[in-house]
Amino acid sequence: MKEVCLRNEDEDGEVTYEKSTVTERQPVLLLKKAETIQNDYVYTYDSETTTETSPSPCGDLTTTVTQDKLQRIEPMYSEDWEPLREILNAHGAKRVEDQDFLLEYWLSYLSDGDGEGDSLIGFNPVGGELVWPTEGSKITSTFGSRVHPITGIIKLHAGVDIGVPIGTPVYAAKSGKVIFADYMGNAGNAIMIQHDGIETRYYHLDKIKVESGQEVEAGEEIAESGNTGGSTGPHLHFEVRVNGEPVNPLVYFGYDESSDILTYRPLDIPVLLEWLGKRNSMLATKEILTMIDDAAKAQGVDPYLLIAITGAEQSFVPKSNKYADKIVKNPWNVFGSWQEGRGAELTTKDAAIIAAKTIVKLSKGKPSTVSPIAWLSDPENPNGVYATGTNWVKNVTSIYEQLSQLGD
Ligand SMILES: [Zn+2]
Repeated sequence: MKEVCLRNEDEDGEVTYEKSTVTERQPVLLLKKAETIQNDYVYTYDSETTTETSPSPCGDLTTTVTQDKLQRIEPMYSEDWEPLREILNAHGAKRVEDQDFLLEYWLSYLSDGDGEGDSLIGFNPVGGELVWPTEGSKITSTFGSRVHPITGIIKLHAGVDIGVPIGTPVYAAKSGKVIFADYMGNAGNAIMIQHDGIETRYYHLDKIKVESGQEVEAGEEIAESGNTGGSTGPHLHFEVRVNGEPVNPLVYFGYDESSDILTYRPLDIPVLLEWLGKRNSMLATKEILTMIDDAAKAQGVDPYLLIAITGAEQSFVPKSNKYADKIVKNPWNVFGSWQEGRGAELTTKDAAIIAAKTIVKLSKGKPSTVSPIAWLSDPENPNGVYATGTNWVKNVTSIYEQLSQLGD
């Protein structure tokens, strides 16, 4: 509601002023719910009324504005948006709730990007069933799902990126039949080859030297590498699919994925204290992190995996949870759960040891084409399963990969 001052002038030139009220409506469409890969977010709004007065020949004029004000967004566990908050702050979005709103909104627009993964230094491919598909073995982005450090979006990088200059020969990894050889959007110039039981893919090529339908021999030159499509630099993106599902191509070249989770490396405690502290986690104490580190060391397990599991099982035990004091004693939910039975009678230290031993036990006999974390909850695992459901694997994997970057 707004008061205005109207000026009237009669035929004698006499001026009078009259106060009048106008109502302005500015309908806006509010985002009530957003869906990201990880979660649904519900936005709630309160209305906020502000009143301003300004002087006029009619006396003080009052303007009353009622607008919707964002109240709450459900937080997400993996958020690390400080860099973006700084940018938003510099552009005038100073209120935290406005920043949250914008960040969430952006999530729905961000698309997949090749080449976001970790690099793997010193990998030396040893062929066997497959021929290494190019000349050069600098892995600029590994296979796997990972959480984007800023947006929190989980993405699967379905292959490996091999950093090679444009024009490097690309070879068929195995004898087979070319089933696709053409430009394909983000993949750029792409080739797909169907082999016995598996399929291989080669993306971002510069020159394609085969045609769809053609039979190729293992090791035959099929293309020159390039930088076409949604590529951030010259590289070959190489994929292996088994029954349509992407698997880590490096396991065909002597790479043992189990060594990642079954290799102890010390926790970077100061970095973790800060990282977990930001998540308001009960685990953010030197004492607890040391216990986790010790348990992992004794069993030969990566302690970052133990922490990742607490993330998937208990969101790192936020202090705001009213049972936080109990959950922190068994955030791995070993022996069932922290809530009841033997699982409710553990200390954090004992629970960490049991979780580490469980990982060692379940890791046995992992097939080379199953990821080590997926194997922990694979229904085919003869040793049992840590948890059921694909979300557990997805969450543990993505948190673990994020934590691994902290630890590097
Ligand atoms: Zn790639």
